[in-house]
Amino acid sequence: MKQDAPDPQVSCPLCRAHGENVLWHSARCRVVLVDDADHAGYCRVIWNAHVKEMTDLAAGARIYLMQAVFAAEQAVRAVMHPDKINLATLGNQVPHLHWHVIPRFVDDASFPDSIWSPPRRGGAHRNADASGLVQMLRRHLGPGK
Ligand SMILES: [Zn+2]
Repeated sequence: MKQDAPDPQVSCPLCRAHGENVLWHSARCRVVLVDDADHAGYCRVIWNAHVKEMTDLAAGARIYLMQAVFAAEQAVRAVMHPDKINLATLGNQVPHLHWHVIPRFVDDASFPDSIWSPPRRGGAHRNADASGLVQMLRRHLGPGK
């Protein structure tokens, strides 16, 4: 007999998130600044409800989420001036819909590999400008709630 799946409200780290540095949020999704010293300005766009795949969302919700992802990309580009943006959605470890918006620099620890690859060097240190990111997100998405 198959066991019931664990309640995501209890077991999912994005459902029971606390201590996130939320830059912008609405009733549907939020943009958080990831605390990652090697990748300053790294943001995550998280759908608030526990949903696994993009195609679990209705068409309008998919567009809404991608508008937030693209706004996060624009904010990170404007504030961090990266050499490249990496957008990724994996969810293999945390199957709760979220997108990674990662500023990449040719001198960061693992460039040109993914940030999850073994480092090639000691990465250059940068600081994230959280208030600049908030300002740009509001410009593109409105004030949020
Ligand atoms: Zn969840």
